[in-house]
Amino acid sequence: MKKLQMVDLQGQYEHIKDQINTSLEEIMQTSAFINGPEVQKFQKELEEYLDVKHVIPCANGTDALQIAMMGLDLKPGDEVITADFTFAATVEVIALLQLTPVLVDVEPDTFNIDPEAIRKAITPKTKAIVPVHLFGQTANMDSIMEIAKEHDLYVIEDNAQAIGANFHSREAKTYKTGTIGHVASTSFFPSKNLGCFGDGGAIFTNDDKLAHTLRGIVNHGMYERYHHDVVGVNSRLDSMQAAVLRAKLPKLDLYNEARKEAARKYDQAFEGQENIVIPYREGECDTHVYHQYTLKITNGKRDALVKHLNEKGIPCGVYYPIPLHSQKAYQDSRYNEADFPVTNLLVKEVISLPMHTELEDDQIEFITSSVIKFINN
Ligand SMILES: *Cc1c(COP(=O)(O)O)cnc(C)c1O
Repeated sequence: MKKLQMVDLQGQYEHIKDQINTSLEEIMQTSAFINGPEVQKFQKELEEYLDVKHVIPCANGTDALQIAMMGLDLKPGDEVITADFTFAATVEVIALLQLTPVLVDVEPDTFNIDPEAIRKAITPKTKAIVPVHLFGQTANMDSIMEIAKEHDLYVIEDNAQAIGANFHSREAKTYKTGTIGHVASTSFFPSKNLGCFGDGGAIFTNDDKLAHTLRGIVNHGMYERYHHDVVGVNSRLDSMQAAVLRAKLPKLDLYNEARKEAARKYDQAFEGQENIVIPYREGECDTHVYHQYTLKITNGKRDALVKHLNEKGIPCGVYYPIPLHSQKAYQDSRYNEADFPVTNLLVKEVISLPMHTELEDDQIEFITSSVIKFINN
């Protein structure tokens, strides 16, 4: 059996090595490191793939989220609702912009922001909602867009974990995640479903005016050279990262299919297990691209399982072990523990197993049998 890894980037690289090496060498020879043709080409290709009017590449997924919010007319003190169960970057940028993060609970099956909890949290100061398509599973965008319309709120999708996932609307239309709300952010961190060889990110929007604003913000607020119309930042995707992403983008659907295939095999092995809840999915899991394959262990043995798997050389992760509302940086007197029953339980039950494009059957068999044996012991 090949060595088990949480993410196997080396194996993925081997298949596209020649193409990537050639592009990188070309960039080194032409020295077009910043804003080179690779960046523009990647931008166009991603716009086509997503069927979105504008992709604005930037330096990482956290910047992408921050810049997306800077482009909207939000003022200090405006409230932004997001999920209690997500990576800290989501709430961090809200706080950095002196907006007020309002954390709400998630759904027990999809782990995504609960539309009912959003409704309850809305006040006259609420200006935006940030749904996160967590672990690759599409959030309930029909309900979220409906609430946003009723209350005139912006929707900023944090699509860092779900690039390539589909959303099927109530009107039977299909969209890529990240193209449904007003604006969206994504990350090309190496371990994401579409990852580069360093840091990278992008913002998506169908709004021409907002896209123009954002293109200035990523470049020091410049729309004309040395004319600074707004306060901006320096956030660029470099040419080498764009070249890596251009090699991988045509394979993204295959990569996501490989993840789904691994997820189906995991699901099958865990079927009928009383104390193990497999990830929720609809139909043929078209709306889930398995950035993580996350189980719930319901008999209180999660922590013991983590220890056991580590001892056996099986990597695993707990995403996320602490609710954001309990983090020192994000405490707020308005929060009440009774408002977060789902997140408070998930942090004790979830465990993510190795998930990547190179998983082999004997590896899955070894992982699943080890989990099952331990949990039933
Ligand atoms: C990875 C991630 C980010 C941040 O992306 P970086 O490129 O690491 O800055 C933001 N939100 C979520 C949900 C993520 O998983």
